[in-house]
Amino acid sequence: MSDEGRPAWAIDSNGRVKNYSDPSFEDLLASFNFDSENAEITLNGERMVLTDNRSLGTTRRELIAALGYEKARGLATRIGYDLGSNDASLALKLRDPDDVFKGFAVGPQLHSLKGSVKVEPLVFKANYQKGEFYSEYHWHNSAECLAHLTHIGISPYPGGWQQSGYASGYASGFFGRPMIFRELQCKAMGHERCFLVGKPAEEWEDAEEEMRWFRAENYSIRSRVSNLPPAKQSDPLKIGQHSIVGASSGFNLALHLVERVAKTTVPVFFTGESGVGKEVFARELHRRSKRAERQMISVNCAAIPDSLIEAELFGVEKGAFTGADVTRPGRFERAEGSTLFLDEIGTLSFSAQAKLLRVLQEGEFERLGGSAVYKADVRVIAATNADLQDAMHNGRFRSDLLHRITTFPINIPPLRERGADIPLLASHFLRKICLRHDRKSPGFDDAAIRHLQGYSWPGNVREMENIIERAVILANDGDLIGIHHLTMTGSNLDPGGSREPFWSFVLSQARGEGQNSIKEDILESGLTKDEIISCLIEGALERSAGNVTKAAKAIGMTRSQLNYWLRDKKE
Ligand SMILES: [Zn+2]
Repeated sequence: MSDEGRPAWAIDSNGRVKNYSDPSFEDLLASFNFDSENAEITLNGERMVLTDNRSLGTTRRELIAALGYEKARGLATRIGYDLGSNDASLALKLRDPDDVFKGFAVGPQLHSLKGSVKVEPLVFKANYQKGEFYSEYHWHNSAECLAHLTHIGISPYPGGWQQSGYASGYASGFFGRPMIFRELQCKAMGHERCFLVGKPAEEWEDAEEEMRWFRAENYSIRSRVSNLPPAKQSDPLKIGQHSIVGASSGFNLALHLVERVAKTTVPVFFTGESGVGKEVFARELHRRSKRAERQMISVNCAAIPDSLIEAELFGVEKGAFTGADVTRPGRFERAEGSTLFLDEIGTLSFSAQAKLLRVLQEGEFERLGGSAVYKADVRVIAATNADLQDAMHNGRFRSDLLHRITTFPINIPPLRERGADIPLLASHFLRKICLRHDRKSPGFDDAAIRHLQGYSWPGNVREMENIIERAVILANDGDLIGIHHLTMTGSNLDPGGSREPFWSFVLSQARGEGQNSIKEDILESGLTKDEIISCLIEGALERSAGNVTKAAKAIGMTRSQLNYWLRDKKE
């Protein structure tokens, strides 16, 4: 913990120690706009609302009374997390990527500009190369802690719920891995001031204490009526090992619906773009259902030809058609007492649709070529990325089946609308894939994170997993994942079809078609073409520790071209 008056200090990525002083607010301040005529306040293009701090206190008191401490604090924390992660994307675009102090300071400075809290950095250590982050802050004049103190009184726990959530969401977005900020001292607890520590989630021994606030569902069964914080969890969440990962409001809403419907037997219908993780959510639903002990059976309807799908689903008697040499049960029989997941249900043939409707309505079916009636106790989960309403209007999908399967629809939003999930997912996949391939990587470098955050992810979560898997295989064991690992093959599969693949997004950013233009920087520098090429070669040689072949490859030259250039310049 920090002593009074100790100078703030920081270690940069190169291991240099320097005194920390906040960069100027000018760029942020200049983006404040009060348009009284149109009743609009904006900060960096984000719409703001000026509100009385009093409302924070009354809202909090009402929320605790209505929901209990646990849910009220969770809600405030998640709102803060979402705001913080949004501001992190802004920070990554706004300031020089090489100055990690200045870049990171956007978050605390915005907090201060918005009137939330004056943030005084005490310790700031960030080293991308080693994947390290550690920081200590004093909060002065915290609006939220003051509101807590005024409306709730001195409490045994800290009051900066939304503000801590903001700091956690901001740092997670900024560094591309789950970070947790915890208020260890607080005015609302009777301390002289608020004191805050932030570091990677896995470095907190009891990270679940905070991680549970980031999820909409209630993890705790203890403190439903109590106003006191619950005791320590005996079974802490192992971060990154959960099958389902996210913190965005879209993710939380979908998970909330899953939890609501899991224990019933109604059919559930997942919609969402290709690659958003509909099957992952279906598995989570099954895991939380009363059928969890039995294995969920999955069928991708689009992968099975029309002529075989009925036999696949309902089974077949020997001799039912040419090629049916043996009697075999279908997926409905195999899923007896369990869950059947039907992906891409929109591609089912009309006759398979009729049979499916019969199972859903009457709970019975016959094998193909057979006359015995089988009873089915199967929970059906269906999914599609197609517009089934449209298919129904065009006569390709039965309206009665559509109404039957869409009793409980759950939409999984695309990844581009779930910004807060990106660092958590990237970090989750990195861990999972390293384990799969027996590799180690401390994380992503800052450029990689910036691009992961800025990309529109047309292929969604699946595209991210593929890109990270390729990067892990390309990187040396123990290396940070850089932009060159994420883009090296130049042939990222793009399940979104004609939309922009990741590597062309990175190229367009580099060419200055995006917001961070290196084109301008180069023109500003006044260098000639030859000088720029020399710089490029020099830099590549430094990176490759003098290895000419490696350096040439990194900048798209051949070894002999590079040698020729070097000789030419010497003469
Ligand atoms: Zn506080």
